[in-house]
Amino acid sequence: MDWLANLPLPNDNFLGIEWNNWKVIGWLGNATFFCRFFVQWYATEKKKQVVVPTAFWWLSLTGSLLLLIYSLRKRDSVFIFAYAFTWIPYVRNLIIHRRHKEAQLTCPACGVHSPPSANYCASCGAKLVL
Ligand SMILES: [Zn+2]
Repeated sequence: MDWLANLPLPNDNFLGIEWNNWKVIGWLGNATFFCRFFVQWYATEKKKQVVVPTAFWWLSLTGSLLLLIYSLRKRDSVFIFAYAFTWIPYVRNLIIHRRHKEAQLTCPACGVHSPPSANYCASCGAKLVL
């Protein structure tokens, strides 16, 4: 990765951390992984019920892959194992979410989407299944 070696850094020591381009990848992974908590918390507070938005799974996947790349570079078996398999449930949840979204019923009267099991539109009450 030649482009990594050419990234400009302000100096070698910032915030008490000795920076190099691999550290940037590792910290980007940490920051991405950490951000998912705020995304999930915000979505839950907004709906006033526990919600796990799609963005949570994308941030989980991106953050864990960046941390896996960093751990592979560091050749730390404990760190590698911690992130080697976490992508599986993240990808699976994204697939399930997409399938669920595709299976949703669209109300012919108002266009609002309802769960596949719904018989009537929660918004206008129109019958969804003939
Ligand atoms: Zn409707």
